[in-house]
Amino acid sequence: TQSTRYRGRFAPTPSGPLHFGSLVAALGSYLDARAVGGTWLVRIEDIDPPRCPPGTASTILRQLEAFGLHWDETVYWQHDRDDTYQRALDSLAAQGLAYPCSCSRKQWQEFAVYPGWCREGLRDPQKPVAWRLRSDLAKRPIEWQDRLLGWQQFDPETLGDVILKRKDALWAYQLAVVVDDADQAISDVVRGVDLLDNTPWQRQLQVALALPEPRYLHLPLVVNHEGQKLSKQNLAPALADDEHGIRHQLFQALQALDQAPPGELVHEPVTTQLHWAVTHWSVERLSPSAHRELPQEP
Ligand code: GLU
Repeated sequence: TQSTRYRGRFAPTPSGPLHFGSLVAALGSYLDARAVGGTWLVRIEDIDPPRCPPGTASTILRQLEAFGLHWDETVYWQHDRDDTYQRALDSLAAQGLAYPCSCSRKQWQEFAVYPGWCREGLRDPQKPVAWRLRSDLAKRPIEWQDRLLGWQQFDPETLGDVILKRKDALWAYQLAVVVDDADQAISDVVRGVDLLDNTPWQRQLQVALALPEPRYLHLPLVVNHEGQKLSKQNLAPALADDEHGIRHQLFQALQALDQAPPGELVHEPVTTQLHWAVTHWSVERLSPSAHRELPQEP
């Protein structure tokens, strides 16, 4: 029933191993792709080497395999895509949509977002520059239909001029993700709702770079008992690496996605659980409420 062939992806930043929250995001995008016979890809977003300890990406890939989440095609890496990202930035700059900025965070700390001082020329030409996207030139509001959350509208100016390339010459997530989603011909982005307010910048970039605009589904986020997003910093519990624990957590991840798996499925191997989940996958069953509490002993 879909006009474009479904291609989905899971795009982890290898800053730490997967935890229960990232398992839920991976599983949601996997099921959404497999349920329509689509392609499911893995992209390692390793554009920020200082944040990515060596070996973490292979840990993530091993974890995905242990949970039965096998991907198609070869794993896609962001670390060697400098030329491609630079071409995209050059095109934005040529359109007047990206500009160099020498301001430091300290200079504009009393503002909620960067006030755009360097839009018309560098404030301090001696200093190193970052490259920013001009939010004031975006068509406003930026809007799209989220498959779970419905109609979304953002005023780009309240989000500010996001950084595309950092002062240390590292690429920022917003530019890389847009260029690579297009390069991999992604039709459907399924990811955590924590990334929802990044989507307007990505939509703006897709329009400016004349790239196709994928559909979006932002999944509920798993939070800890204090209501915080799971992360390495707040010591998210590790994913299991034993057969029993893996079955149990996969089952809990299906519950976190509101798929109401029958209780006896918890004892089944991952292939059986995933087969059930692919054939029963229903976005309608997902409640759009933003948070799921971490289950006891995930
Ligand atoms: N790399 C991003 C993260 O791990 C996700 C990118 C995306 O799904 O768009 O948070």
